Amino acid sequence: MQFKYDFFEQLTSLYQVVSPSAIDNPSWLAWSDDAAQLIHHCQQSDHLLQQFAGQQPLPQAHYYAQVYSGHQFGGYSPRLGDGRSIIVGEVLGPQGAFDMALKGAGKTPFSRHGDGRAVMRSSIREFLASEAMYHLGIPTSRALAVVGSDTPVLRQQMETAAITVRLARSHIRFGHFEYLTHTLQAGKSELKQLVDFCIKQHYQYSCDSAGYHAWFHQVVQDTARMIAHWQAVGFCHGVMNTDNMSILGDTFDYGPFAFLDTYHEDFICNKSDGEGRYAFSQQVSVGFWNLQCLAQALTPLLESDVLVQALQTYQPLVVEHYLYLMRQKLGLAIVARNQQRDFEIIGQLTHVMQTQRLDYTLTLRQLAEEEPFITKHPVRDHCIDPQAFDAWYDNYLEALPEVTDTAQWQQQRLAVNPKYVLRNYLAQEAIIGLERGDKRPFELLYQTLRQPYITHTGAEALTQRPPDWGEGLILSCSS
Ligand code: AMP
Ligand code: MG
Repeated sequence: MQFKYDFFEQLTSLYQVVSPSAIDNPSWLAWSDDAAQLIHHCQQSDHLLQQFAGQQPLPQAHYYAQVYSGHQFGGYSPRLGDGRSIIVGEVLGPQGAFDMALKGAGKTPFSRHGDGRAVMRSSIREFLASEAMYHLGIPTSRALAVVGSDTPVLRQQMETAAITVRLARSHIRFGHFEYLTHTLQAGKSELKQLVDFCIKQHYQYSCDSAGYHAWFHQVVQDTARMIAHWQAVGFCHGVMNTDNMSILGDTFDYGPFAFLDTYHEDFICNKSDGEGRYAFSQQVSVGFWNLQCLAQALTPLLESDVLVQALQTYQPLVVEHYLYLMRQKLGLAIVARNQQRDFEIIGQLTHVMQTQRLDYTLTLRQLAEEEPFITKHPVRDHCIDPQAFDAWYDNYLEALPEVTDTAQWQQQRLAVNPKYVLRNYLAQEAIIGLERGDKRPFELLYQTLRQPYITHTGAEALTQRPPDWGEGLILSCSS
């Protein structure tokens, strides 16, 4: 692995140097060959295991924890930072550099009352989620590996510590900009340094006011596209605080997330979110709220009218991208004049899913699996009131374009409607297996998530609705 240290060398007010604290008796719990490709096919070895476990230093590695602030559940926290994640540098790879972070590698100056650790279950969840989102074509941070250990960690009960090796194109969050402006009350020059850094690392814009405008516009668009993807796939992030929003629009900081099982627009996946601030249906508006926080933090550098102009592109773009994704899923032709009609069809479908208590992923998949234009679609048999489905289906059939090649039509639908998603109950079963030393449920789940659109033999159970204990599992942040 070859490292570079641009952030470390250039943005010295945004981190502190730290040392990892080793975990005991490390073992590989998970490894992603797909993510390893991003860093020149880095190979698993005992030596690397010890390095990730903090028992041996990584070659040349500077270890640092970034400082940032953020709006958490609407309130400003002036100083957050990596409380348990230690960045070891930017690793070079064929598609550019990736920050490598060891999440759970011990206390940092930003740990506050925390122990700097992550438990095995949350690490496995982050690993599976990152890789699943990637294979669903959704912008995301990646996970190279999870290292398990014997090190005890106290949560509700005793658990064991693990370290997730995260790869991210950047760990810069909206909260970094808020930190400079509101906490450090840094002037224009420090903010400019951070914006210039983002631009030079990832874009071709000039570092002047025209370039800054284009860059902020890009951030708004990338965020809008990411959230449109979440809504289309039924992903609920759970903690959309501004410190968990990547400046590149990558899904980031997986905590109590969920993929919807039974569709419910107001589903809340985070136990700490009593009021549903981050409910599924709120994600689009929270994305906008967060972008407004970012815009506010950028006011020393960018004119307000320019910021407002870019912000105004958010809502139409989320709508446009969501519509594009949903039309693909349903096989509706992209005809501009029928935008309103297609929106109504999508809205009516989610309404039927909610009233009939249908599973989000399975319903879309079943609609894709059947030939178009059949009478009495099998989804109706899952409904309490099949006529409610029939009414929607009639409208849908009217809107469908003429299909000349049924096989191709099905093929295209199957390629955009996943058969397998990371349902919380499946993650839970994989974790229970690992706790017992049985890797098979984890491996099977991981392999299906790597290719979520094709049928895997022996994995039929992973396409089922959750058992009663696993329906709508709600998780907490504290992991
Ligand atoms: P999160 O909800 O995971 O984004 O975490 C919010 C903040 O709490 C971040 O600054 C984390 O680094 C910090 N944090 C979460 N868990 C721990 C922990 N076990 N030890 C130290 N800091 C933590
Ligand atoms: Mg976080």
